[in-house]
Amino acid sequence: MVRLGCDMLRTEETALARLCRRASTDKAAAAAGALRERGNREFGRGRYRAALGLYCKAVSHEPPGSPELSVCFANRSAALFHLGHFEVCLEDIARAESHGYPDRLLPKVLLRKAECLLCLGRLQDAADALSVVESKIHMDGLMTSPTHQTLLKKLSQLKVKIHKKERCPEPAPEACGDMHGKSEIWEENDSISGASSSLSLNFDTERGRHLVASQDIVPGQRLLKEEAFVSVLCPGESLPLQDSETAWDTPVTNADLYCHRCLRQLLASVPCQRCSYAKYCSQDCADVAWQQYHRTECSLGALLLTLGVFCHVALRTVLLAGFAEVNRLVKWSHSGDKDPHNSKARVACPGEAPDAGAGTRSIPGCNDTGQYQSSYQAVFHLLPHTEQHNPEHKFLCMLSVVVMCKHMQEAGLHTAVLNQESSEWSSKPKTSEKSSDELSPELKTVAEAMLRHVLQLQCNAQAITVMQELEPGDGAVVNKKPVRLATAFFPVLSLLNHSCCPNTSVSFSGTTATVRASQPIPRGQEIFHCYGPHQCRMRVAERQQLLSQYFFECRCRVCLDELESDVKSVVSMRNSFCCPSCQAPMQEEEDLLCCSDEACATSVSRENLSHRLWDLQQQIKKALDLLRDRKTDQAIRILLKCQMDAGNFLSPEHLLMGEMEDHLAQVYATLGKWQEAARHLKKSIEIVEMHHGPTSEEIGHELFKLAQILFNGFAVSEALSTIQRAEKILSMHCGPQSAQIQELQEMKTCLSELPRSIFQRT
Ligand SMILES: [Zn+2]
Ligand SMILES: [Zn+2]
Ligand SMILES: [Zn+2]
Ligand SMILES: [Zn+2]
Repeated sequence: MVRLGCDMLRTEETALARLCRRASTDKAAAAAGALRERGNREFGRGRYRAALGLYCKAVSHEPPGSPELSVCFANRSAALFHLGHFEVCLEDIARAESHGYPDRLLPKVLLRKAECLLCLGRLQDAADALSVVESKIHMDGLMTSPTHQTLLKKLSQLKVKIHKKERCPEPAPEACGDMHGKSEIWEENDSISGASSSLSLNFDTERGRHLVASQDIVPGQRLLKEEAFVSVLCPGESLPLQDSETAWDTPVTNADLYCHRCLRQLLASVPCQRCSYAKYCSQDCADVAWQQYHRTECSLGALLLTLGVFCHVALRTVLLAGFAEVNRLVKWSHSGDKDPHNSKARVACPGEAPDAGAGTRSIPGCNDTGQYQSSYQAVFHLLPHTEQHNPEHKFLCMLSVVVMCKHMQEAGLHTAVLNQESSEWSSKPKTSEKSSDELSPELKTVAEAMLRHVLQLQCNAQAITVMQELEPGDGAVVNKKPVRLATAFFPVLSLLNHSCCPNTSVSFSGTTATVRASQPIPRGQEIFHCYGPHQCRMRVAERQQLLSQYFFECRCRVCLDELESDVKSVVSMRNSFCCPSCQAPMQEEEDLLCCSDEACATSVSRENLSHRLWDLQQQIKKALDLLRDRKTDQAIRILLKCQMDAGNFLSPEHLLMGEMEDHLAQVYATLGKWQEAARHLKKSIEIVEMHHGPTSEEIGHELFKLAQILFNGFAVSEALSTIQRAEKILSMHCGPQSAQIQELQEMKTCLSELPRSIFQRT
């Protein structure tokens, strides 16, 4: 136990060193320099998104007001320019100038400014900027160096461009009121905040609190829209623990790419002035975060990273709730009285059946008027399952919470924690607390609440995911996959029970979750969402094992089917091997697989085939690495060989067969071979459809990719029909306002104008 504590502290120290303050230490400067150089390398290879992330990181480490900081801003503006974010690029150029950007380098940056203005259609401003550069270059005297020659060339090119644009101005873009005007039919529930009026909140001992359709629901209908009560950005890939020079060589994580408050994607981040971890999309987010929680969290940053995201969420929850509310509910939980509002009413504690006939008023978490709101009270009433957690886990949680509270006490963060500007508490000098092994009574209350939240999180933590671009290519086809971005409490969303075949889809925008019906839901049926283990991804045994963390056994339709009858799960049927000699299906007999064709009679050990599968996966990984290094020919060769090998021992419906087709489609797309790309992607779509169903979100994303490929290949009518299919599926899962739907609409508009431009080309 003691050693555990020591380890924890040691990790914390290294983490602290890594997060060195912006006090212009040599280390911070070296780190920033290294990051900037790596950014330049990525930039040189055309990986602008990666470069942007590294420059953002460097900006967080440079001491404010240093000339290096101005260079960082200038470099970042270049990445932003290449990514097409012209407005933000201009902001960064202004920042570079205001931080004393070196004079001799200025012309290049000013040219970029002119180009930005040109792209934004601000021709006069662009011309003005150009004349500034021109006089600057001429003032610098002799211009024989190659650098100067390039600058001059660029200058004259830009001049020509401006003249051209001036002579034939582009028509002003038409206002696209089309999408914005289309608002969804939505009637909010009277007693559940953020929920549709088609739902009602029920309670019984078997299912606990749950939501039921109070009228027939159609697919795509919005059932819930809830802002997270609290959310904490997950840094993503774990940071290396050793604090050597190479420790700075960490990959850019989500902590560098998204706003730490609103989870919006960062372009030019505004870093916290005091630590190099927190970054925001705007000064406004930085200020609000500071006021609400970061003034406490800032100096605990390293500790929070070490203790993990659940502890961080627990702390931020109590900070957002405010001490008064935390104190009220903790006190209430001590008293025998179970109604936090009314001392006379006897209401069941969470988990027990409420009084019959009392309506929603007696359902745990509801306020005295029977409303269930996304409030701290609702969070407090989420089940902590205190009895079911194993003792070791509880002990670790307790230890973590106490460590956090001790740090806060020692760092004198009482006032911030208690939301008090001045009180008898804050005036107490911390040195006077000699016997400070004891936590103050207020912090004990805070600790108790935090422990409750950490325990609740095991069952109630909701991951916020985003569709993140995989290794950015040349932008022709955007390949995205869902990535966990943050961990949050959504007290209303938490009312939904789990099913391995849910009737809803959850999507996120920033910190807001939206739940939609993914199929018709008749009146009276319970609303389910999937906590993770989905029938399309795992077999019943794996699902049940994963679900054990939630302290229940899944009794959903597919689990019962798979458990009680001998129905094989869809996963095992479609991820099976075939006979290496004749490709017939294999029959399983313990660890031996036998060919189903008696004439063939081949048998192979499962271990043998698993090994071949592993080899295959390694080869695919290698191909993807080559692709990243733009060695396309080699990548194709390896992938085609993998496909041949795989056909010899994997069933044609195996998910990996689909993945290989998908990779091949991606490679051909980067080469501009659109027909080849489409051909491979269609095969991948067939397999995805077998695994996830024809109206699944997964199919929606695949069709989105196909639409992009067909669009690029000018396959107009096929592109239009694919867009239509993708639109229908994705709007059901993610709603008509989602970014992908907007992109599809833009493609459609573009295609409808296409015939004319094609004629112009030929
Ligand atoms: Zn923000
Ligand atoms: Zn900070
Ligand atoms: Zn199930
Ligand atoms: Zn065979």
